[in-house]
Amino acid sequence: MKELRGLVRSFTTKEIVPHLADWERAGEVPRDLHRAAAAIGLLGLAYPEAVGGGGGTPLDSATVTEELILSGASSGLIAALFTHGIALPHIIASGDPDLIDRFVRPTLAGERIGALAITEPDGGSDVAGLRATAVRHGDTYLVNGAKTYITSGARADFVTAAVRTGGPGHDGVSLLVIEDFTVTRRLEKMGWHCSDTAELSFVDAEVPAANLVGAEGTGFRQIMRHFASERLSMAVQACAMAQRCLDLTIAWCRDRTTFGSPLVTKQVVRHRLAEMARTTTVARTYVWSLVGREASPVETAMAKNTAVAACDFVVDAAVQLHGGAGYLRDSEVERHYRDARIMGIGGGTTEIMNEIIAKGLLDVR
Ligand SMILES: Cc1cc2nc3c(=O)[nH]c(=O)nc-3n(C[C@H](O)[C@H](O)[C@H](O)COP(=O)(O)OP(=O)(O)OC[C@H]3O[C@@H](n4cnc5c(N)ncnc54)[C@H](O)[C@@H]3O)c2cc1C
Repeated sequence: MKELRGLVRSFTTKEIVPHLADWERAGEVPRDLHRAAAAIGLLGLAYPEAVGGGGGTPLDSATVTEELILSGASSGLIAALFTHGIALPHIIASGDPDLIDRFVRPTLAGERIGALAITEPDGGSDVAGLRATAVRHGDTYLVNGAKTYITSGARADFVTAAVRTGGPGHDGVSLLVIEDFTVTRRLEKMGWHCSDTAELSFVDAEVPAANLVGAEGTGFRQIMRHFASERLSMAVQACAMAQRCLDLTIAWCRDRTTFGSPLVTKQVVRHRLAEMARTTTVARTYVWSLVGREASPVETAMAKNTAVAACDFVVDAAVQLHGGAGYLRDSEVERHYRDARIMGIGGGTTEIMNEIIAKGLLDVR
């Protein structure tokens, strides 16, 4: 693990940190970064060797995620560079050798970029209510509809898209890998500036029936199964952002002098740092207790909400303790403050996590 952390730290320091501010302004990361990350085995690390991965574990994956942020990268950078983490798992689980050859291997090699397209302009939380349609004609599906808020959508070569192949509700949803789509709009955001986000449309898009992922009508179940790893990854990212902001703030409070002495000599500052440390450590302990084991949906939802609340508290305190410097664009705590806001929205909102927890608690439908 020490070696893996060292590898990630060196990659982040050399290949990411010097360019991150430029990528934030450009609104995307370059394709070369995908190739460079693939070349040292980071993109495919936690995927089976049989699909072109490195055969690593979920613990390796969480370690990479955490170390990227602790070394000066960002959750936006992770969203952009590791979008395949949400786009590929369904394809891999389907075991379809043709789909794996066409989409999984080249993506893990850094040659193609994939995205996951579930959310629609009419709604994201209610996945079973999605409207994009795919009608089968012989060996082809004709797809029509729109998707929005799609991470890496502007750069993507393909999207793993949720479409309606049947009637209303869960059982009418399927997953299709689609290469024929139009980027209708690049979306400007509060944070995650280096991660492009797009609105997409499908207009009579002809998609080979061979691009169906798993069986027709199983899309909703596949999405829910793989949401678990996305949610846990977001929880790991939220804890790492909190830890990074704590580290940066401790260093700042040692250096910054007001009224003749460093900030750390003021009890109110020391207590705030103590609260930041307590909140971060307790959240991280719970989140990491789930890494590498089969966590239940309730546990995963609790981990995400706990990590998001900890992160929100810590990034806010970090900006406050930095004073004016914390409000300046390109200061690292300012970026984390903006980036943190998506954590309680993406991958299932805080309210939807609470619904999952409540259902588990009360056994209601
Ligand atoms: C930067 C960014 C990147 C994203 N990346 C992707 C991506 O790559 N792929 C993708 O498919 N989607 C992506 N999303 C979409 C994201 O998953 C959705 O925004 C999220 O699921 C919420 O859906 P919504 O925005 O439609 O909000 P809505 O579903 O309209 O919800 C609005 C509010 O109502 C609350 N709410 C909804 N239903 C209930 C309920 N039953 N009870 C109580 N409260 C409720 C929600 O919690 C929320 O606060 C991304 C979003 C952003 C902002």
